[in-house]
Amino acid sequence: MRTWTRPEIPDLPGEGITPKLFNTATGRLEYPAIQDGKASLYVCGITPYDATHLGHAFTYVTFDIMQRAWLDAGIEAVYAQNITDVDDPLLERANATGVDWRELADDQIGLYRSDMFRLGMIPPAHYVAVTEQIDEIADAVAALIERGFAYTVPTADSIAGDDIYFDIQGAQAHSQWRLGDVAPYDRDTMAKFSAERGGDPDRYAKRDALDPLLWRAARAGEPSWETAVGAGRPGWHIECSVIATGALGGTFTVQGGGEDLVFPHHEFTAAHATSLTDTPLAHLYSHAGLVAYRGHKMSKSRGNLVFVSKLLDAGADPGSIRLGLLAHHYRSEWEWEDADLERADRRLQAWRDGLVRACAEPLSSAAVVQQLRTAIANDLDTPVMLATLDAALDRGVDDPGLLANAVLALLGVAL
Ligand code: ZN
Repeated sequence: MRTWTRPEIPDLPGEGITPKLFNTATGRLEYPAIQDGKASLYVCGITPYDATHLGHAFTYVTFDIMQRAWLDAGIEAVYAQNITDVDDPLLERANATGVDWRELADDQIGLYRSDMFRLGMIPPAHYVAVTEQIDEIADAVAALIERGFAYTVPTADSIAGDDIYFDIQGAQAHSQWRLGDVAPYDRDTMAKFSAERGGDPDRYAKRDALDPLLWRAARAGEPSWETAVGAGRPGWHIECSVIATGALGGTFTVQGGGEDLVFPHHEFTAAHATSLTDTPLAHLYSHAGLVAYRGHKMSKSRGNLVFVSKLLDAGADPGSIRLGLLAHHYRSEWEWEDADLERADRRLQAWRDGLVRACAEPLSSAAVVQQLRTAIANDLDTPVMLATLDAALDRGVDDPGLLANAVLALLGVAL
């Protein structure tokens, strides 16, 4: 898929510090394995029916900052992202609004692309829609059947055979993967999240209530493809598993996404890959906290969404939106308030004023850049970076050009 234009990222003098990152799977800060100065990052993309709210933007800005930290440390990152352009919520929305699902997806992907460009996000090198990889995904399902890690479940309303599920117990018994490799939850929590987040723990005739869908046999009125495993469409986790490993190879550096993807999505994305290859999907699993608005997590079902495009169209400075998000550490859960944008505007203006203010005893810009580098390398601590810049630009700096370049390179904010 077409992406968007890469933002300008100035080179800073000297070299940044390789960032230490929190690994959801181990609960520790770690240096993910980076070989020959190369990292690889997969971030789960949108289901294109309601793009792009600030919860999405918080996730994508997190992994944008991660790549900026790597770039500054001389690490070249290959970035891949998917688009879940065939999925139940998309089809439900298309049916409810009477719009063809492909048209709805195209419109929303266009809007997302425009939002990402306007926010100055680094585009993925591999931007892959599920509908572009149906055969590859079906082949992976066939390989899981072959290895004995998948089974069929009787399906009354199908027009093309039975649905296919992943066999957790079988894969645990005969592969390197274990339930809980990624998600640090007990089984009750997994069951709760499975029910809330696209799973079907109550479905009749599954071997394990948590077994996830690999392939949905064709139903009348639903999109489907003729493939090696019959007519139908893929389940959610196998899509990302195949797209991620297809773009980045096995055991890439970081698998990223929002906190609500830890289970079941990232657990089973890893399960499918590991049970097929006996190697881990990624070295490190990184998750951005969820953003609330008016008392609840921003969600499509609740309708409490703040859209990036609406803020921008109303005249918001993209730098203010980024600063409004980056004022919160990426792992925190927080609530967007309407006043956040005004606060970020004031901060941006204060920084711009500070850059041109005459000062008798200015701080060394080079020293401030080092402080920024230390903070970003410490699990992307953007609140500390913002506080460092507040203090420095309140006082005044000796090389405004260098500091402006650092803010653009590390935070993606143009002063
Ligand atoms: Zn995904």
